[in-house]
Amino acid sequence: MLVVEDDPAIAELVATYLGRDGHVVSIAATAEAALARMDEIPDLVLLDLGLPGMDGLQFLRAFRTASMAPVIIVSARESDEDKLEGLGLGADDFISKPFSPRVLAARVGALLRRIDLESGADPDRVAGGAAAGTSNVLGFGSFLLDGDAGTLARDGGILRLSRREFQLLYFLVSRPGRSFGAAELHREVWHLEHGDLSTVAVHIQRLRRKIEEDPAEPRWIKTVPGSGYRFAPGQDAQ
Ligand code: CA
Repeated sequence: MLVVEDDPAIAELVATYLGRDGHVVSIAATAEAALARMDEIPDLVLLDLGLPGMDGLQFLRAFRTASMAPVIIVSARESDEDKLEGLGLGADDFISKPFSPRVLAARVGALLRRIDLESGADPDRVAGGAAAGTSNVLGFGSFLLDGDAGTLARDGGILRLSRREFQLLYFLVSRPGRSFGAAELHREVWHLEHGDLSTVAVHIQRLRRKIEEDPAEPRWIKTVPGSGYRFAPGQDAQ
């Protein structure tokens, strides 16, 4: 695990608690130092937003070009804008400073368990490309969605999706024609009963920008007035 944190006292506290749970933790005091270590992609990143030089959100943007590994933002920044931007960039969770290190360790454990439980989104297997012949490959239009590799491909190229975007898309595509409300998607894809449902709309918008020719008139992910979203399969192009 990688802790990106410029306050050495906080970084050591986090490392100590995660170390007790058996995790191997390395600390980077700046985003630049963290990115310089990307030859060894971490399994999970704990990310401070307020950093000297490049800030946490800039780090997240750069990190997501290399890895879909889970990222927890640990920050005193409270604005919804920061949270939405972080979620849009593929952050998986937020922990506000000041925090209880035991709560932080528990949230890390919960996130890792959630990832283990989720099928078809192993962050270690993202780079391989769409493997032909596996049973978890779903096709729509010219897209191939590979549940084993955790990738979306089109015309042989891999499209860049965050882990959560992939999970949301896979959930919808594997249930064609069915409508799901934001609360249901939040529960099924995020595995959260409570929280900010606008996250779902943000992710739908981001997916549409990546897969729809005209995101304002989506062909694949339709908005169902009053009930949420559905994936429109086959020739259904209403
Ligand atoms: Ca800081």
